Amino acid sequence: MLELNNVEVIYSDVILAVKGISLAVPDGKCVALLGGNGAGKSTTLKAISGIIRVEDGRVTSGNINFDGKRIDKADPTEVVRSGIIHVMEGRRVLRHLTVEQNLLVGGHMESSGRDVRKRLDSVYDRIRRLAALKDRITGYLSGGEQQMVVIGRAMMANPKLIMIDEPSLGLAPLMIDEVFELLKDLKASGTTLLIVEQNTRVALEIADYGYVMENGRIVLEGAAEELRNNEDVREFYLGLD
Ligand code: ATP
Repeated sequence: MLELNNVEVIYSDVILAVKGISLAVPDGKCVALLGGNGAGKSTTLKAISGIIRVEDGRVTSGNINFDGKRIDKADPTEVVRSGIIHVMEGRRVLRHLTVEQNLLVGGHMESSGRDVRKRLDSVYDRIRRLAALKDRITGYLSGGEQQMVVIGRAMMANPKLIMIDEPSLGLAPLMIDEVFELLKDLKASGTTLLIVEQNTRVALEIADYGYVMENGRIVLEGAAEELRNNEDVREFYLGLD
């Protein structure tokens, strides 16, 4: 279980980006973090993974706990070792390397070559499309295929929890469906998911629970079903009336 209690995040000692949020991601569940541009969603994920410090940000109050251990002072490597992988926005593939080489980067925590091979086989097994593309140069793949590569790379570390930032961004509708099918499959196999999305509709299809952020605060939360039926969510985030 991942838990955030009254977490506040400040960049460069002056920019208050997250203003005391609390949220929980129970084991095996999928939680969606929703909201518009600049709401503080990416900052929240970066605070959890510890990457925030690379951008001169800090958790200035509150705490973050994973599996009963406090991680808000841990460095990013320790967070990965604890079982959390952060897939950042923008499909950061190593463009000049092959798909398989990209996947191998995600397996660097495994202790032996045999373990890495096992992980690789299990990723190919779960994402058939990657097996077919394994020798291709990643930079020439479509956006959706690159998104699958970064998800596959995350799976290489055999994480308990994957946090993924805007998986649907810039993808054609059919590709969005395919990427979310893969996320559903991951969830079905027991991986806990925390998904940041501006595409509220697809996020609430897979999520069990959702939080809506605005201006650094959580303004609404509830079971996915409840959020889908909530008038404000329907009007502002789903474009329905
Ligand atoms: P988006 O979907 O646009 O990324 P978001 O909800 O993920 O939105 P954040 O990226 O977390 O929002 O940004 C929250 C606030 O923090 C914004 O006001 C943003 O300008 C600010 N911010 C984000 N990154 C930095 C940074 N590295 N340094 C300073 N301020 C930042």
